[in-house]
Amino acid sequence: MDVIAELSGLIGADAVLTSKSDLDAVTEDWRGRYRGPALCLVRPANAEQVAAVVRCCARHGVPVLPQGGNTSLCGGAVPSESGPAPVILNLARMRAVRSIDPVNSTMEVEAGCVLATVQEAAAAAGRLYPVSLGAEGSCQIGGTIATNAGGTSVLRYGNTRDNVLGLEVVLADGTIWSGLYGLRKNNTGYDLKHLFIGSEGTLGIITAATLKLHPLPTRHAVAWIGMAGPADALVLLTRMQERCGARLSAFEMINRLQLDLVVEQVPGRRSPIETPADWHILIELSDNSEGDTLDAELQAILEDAFGDGLLTDAALAASDAQRHAMWEVRHSVSEANKKAGVGLTTDCAVPLSAVPTFIDAATTAVQALVPGLPAIVVAHLGDGNVHFIPFFTFGAWNAVADREALAAAIRHAVNDEAARLNGTFSAEHGVGRVQLGEMARYKPAAELALMRAVKQALDPQNLFNPGRLLPSG
Ligand SMILES: Cc1cc2nc3c(=O)[nH]c(=O)nc-3n(C[C@H](O)[C@H](O)[C@H](O)COP(=O)(O)OP(=O)(O)OC[C@H]3O[C@@H](n4cnc5c(N)ncnc54)[C@H](O)[C@@H]3O)c2cc1C
Repeated sequence: MDVIAELSGLIGADAVLTSKSDLDAVTEDWRGRYRGPALCLVRPANAEQVAAVVRCCARHGVPVLPQGGNTSLCGGAVPSESGPAPVILNLARMRAVRSIDPVNSTMEVEAGCVLATVQEAAAAAGRLYPVSLGAEGSCQIGGTIATNAGGTSVLRYGNTRDNVLGLEVVLADGTIWSGLYGLRKNNTGYDLKHLFIGSEGTLGIITAATLKLHPLPTRHAVAWIGMAGPADALVLLTRMQERCGARLSAFEMINRLQLDLVVEQVPGRRSPIETPADWHILIELSDNSEGDTLDAELQAILEDAFGDGLLTDAALAASDAQRHAMWEVRHSVSEANKKAGVGLTTDCAVPLSAVPTFIDAATTAVQALVPGLPAIVVAHLGDGNVHFIPFFTFGAWNAVADREALAAAIRHAVNDEAARLNGTFSAEHGVGRVQLGEMARYKPAAELALMRAVKQALDPQNLFNPGRLLPSG
């Protein structure tokens, strides 16, 4: 029996899709840059069906590509152009919020649950699931765990790894490992969940998770600020951390080009401040205090900073609508950039103190390759994570003779500067296929060898997402 017929027998013909229209939607990435053929798309209903799919694919030697919301920005969730076509395994049918324990501050969810649904369910129970990013309306919790997603609240709450207490995972031999512990302390040997968090679908299929929740903030103070440069932004960040402590929930930075693209490309978005500025900061304070103390606190800090010449302009959100409008500008950056042209997204992190040097050095390095090329900068500044994005119009990009070679040279130029400053080329998006060359270039040989040993132990047949994350040895 061929693999498609066998899969249909195992999980039902209606859960095994092979038509062109079904496959078109899952074989191309969100930005339309990477695509490759798939054998079929399977949509199992539970972990037992996932296990049956994995066992069947193992018997037939067919690779399994787990796919969440397909919002990966590094080509991690779609097949390669060459090599054996995989079975794409999508968990969208496994989207239940199984339980919420407000006293333990945990929730158990199936991996196909969309991130925004998780946030809403937690909020309805008076709790916060803090991981937040522009794709939260479509990415799945399983995808965010598999990529250890970061986003805009890492400064206060950590990244996804810090907010996962337990996992259920289908292993390469079809075993269902149930590690759905809701414990904050559990020193019983290797903490296996951390192997799967950030493994980008290469070690197992995450089917459910126990998430760590936090008190739901009831008060928010949000401001949009214009500044002369990243060095001033770091002075303000340090000052705010000293004065506000854990109430500082977000400190995001974009440059003028990024704001201009959002305003041009995304209907309804406008600059929150009147005075043009080269650099823009979005700050949020949040807590559970009574009254308007947060707004007053933020206003006092901004007035001091203005007096010290750190700011050129600032707007404090005066209502929830204004607060949401400011965040919508920030969350629209990827959509704007996709519409406007071709941005070569990089994903570096450097020590915070090195951010201004990194941005200057990356600018110089890229302009040595393509004189005058502008760069978008989007930074989760509080985390030292800078997306430095050399930007081409569609026309300029199409005129490049060898686009692949130029893109690689530009990425190396930027990532070399991060490496020189003791940084990383991959802070939050993952490695996928786009950063495979960078893994080979920057990752120490001993680390690669350990990673290959882990892969060999957990997936000796190289069944899960081959050709992603780990460069061939
Ligand atoms: C507009 C926009 C904004 C974004 N902003 C951010 C941001 O601020 N921070 C950030 O970190 N990322 C960001 N991203 C990238 C992306 O949203 C995240 O990487 C997200 O975590 C991917 O989730 P997904 O469900 O779409 O996974 P997919 O893209 O479908 O898959 C990503 C990887 O995870 C694997 N995978 C998916 N589900 C599973 C599973 N159940 N078990 C095992 N492996 C699995 C896939 O094989 C693939 O390797 C953004 C993307 C967009 C489009």
